[in-house]
Amino acid sequence: MSVLIKNGRVVTAADDYHADIYIEGERIALIGKDLQVNADKVIDATDRLVIPGGIDAHTHFDLPFGGTHSADDFETGTRAAAWGGTTTCIDFALQTKGESTLKGLDTWHAKADGKATIDYGFHMIVTDMPDERLPEMERLALAGVTSYKLFMAYPGVLYVDDGTLYRAFRQAGENGTRIQMHAENGIVIDEIIKEAVRDGKFEPKWHGLTRPTRMEAEGVHRSIAIAEVAKVPLYIVHLSCSDALDEVKRARMRGVDVIAETCPHYLFLDMDYYFQEGFEGAKYVMTPALREKWNQEVLWQGLAMHHLETVATDHCPFCMVGQKDLGKESFTKIPNGAPGVENRMSLIYDGGVHKGRMIVNRFVEITSTSPAKCFGLFPRKGTIAVGSDADIVVFNPNRTETISYDNKRTHHMNCDYSAYEGFEVTGWSEVVLSRGRVIIEDDSQVTQGGGQFIKRARCGELLR
Ligand SMILES: [Zn+2]
Repeated sequence: MSVLIKNGRVVTAADDYHADIYIEGERIALIGKDLQVNADKVIDATDRLVIPGGIDAHTHFDLPFGGTHSADDFETGTRAAAWGGTTTCIDFALQTKGESTLKGLDTWHAKADGKATIDYGFHMIVTDMPDERLPEMERLALAGVTSYKLFMAYPGVLYVDDGTLYRAFRQAGENGTRIQMHAENGIVIDEIIKEAVRDGKFEPKWHGLTRPTRMEAEGVHRSIAIAEVAKVPLYIVHLSCSDALDEVKRARMRGVDVIAETCPHYLFLDMDYYFQEGFEGAKYVMTPALREKWNQEVLWQGLAMHHLETVATDHCPFCMVGQKDLGKESFTKIPNGAPGVENRMSLIYDGGVHKGRMIVNRFVEITSTSPAKCFGLFPRKGTIAVGSDADIVVFNPNRTETISYDNKRTHHMNCDYSAYEGFEVTGWSEVVLSRGRVIIEDDSQVTQGGGQFIKRARCGELLR
């Protein structure tokens, strides 16, 4: 199978030019002006951007949480991602405390195998790491899992103490791999939650009011300090606020290898969403919580100025009926997470490029190239180049859509609400290719399945 994409404006993190792209099999074979080649399929990209497929480095498909599972599995989740112009997700495999991380990896392979429509990788969530099991981390790296997420939040569930952090950080650093941090002081937050519950405060808004930004900033500061001493590259997931960003900026100024990610919900939604009528606020119960609105502009600036390097969704959907309503009586029982994997590319193009906050190359960088470089997928993914996977989006920068649960073009996630209901976005993924296969075209899905697990490279190594 060969595909020719004609007359498009090719945009990567570095370049912006008009050219044709010829794809042979799964990879890009030729890029040039007015290519004279025969192809099985020709796509006209006149007046369209041709960009590398999005990489969402933070999704949770089929994740057990709070007595239920995130509503999207690898089939529905990767399909929704493809609709939104994302062609690779990096999901999180979970280690059960006291058991091998390799067993956790097997479990996640079984969940994903044969179900995905786009390519995927795994980070490993580490919930304990005694000395005798440290060699597992090298075996994970050899299996293509080169990043490990640890939690300072959720005591009794995912939380690990600072000693465990240090041990895992040291080993990851020695192996040439990266640590990801959920940086929030969960011990203190739990005390604040207890106070709220004692005072009879049970509505969803108390989720937001019991997680101060200072406790996120403290977690960011502490994890950076430990990473610096342990000599490991660090990645702060879902950074939500100005206080936390200040800590990242300070560390980067003194040369620490710390990269931070933010999410669309911190750029577009704010704390006021918790104060809606009735139980509506439960839709936005996620961690870290939504912040005061003024933080949004600080995060956008951080993205434009390279203090923040990636935008990922932390897609972790729970339906209002049957899942979120587990917390009707108390915010502490509301499953944490929100849908978003489908809406990221349009939201960030709209808020970033269309609204004039960044140039188009930076949009490509934060949604695709940076996550590819950070997590060992580059240059196979994250750019448009001869030899790279033909993960390509033909993107219409002028098309406007209104995101809604009821809009058949904007909602394929298996979730009974949209977190961005009614948001009008300009910028739309029209044709989506994954390794040369057309997945989305003419507002319909033409391919199902075929996504593969990608073994990722270590820090600083290239994936070919
Ligand atoms: Zn997450």
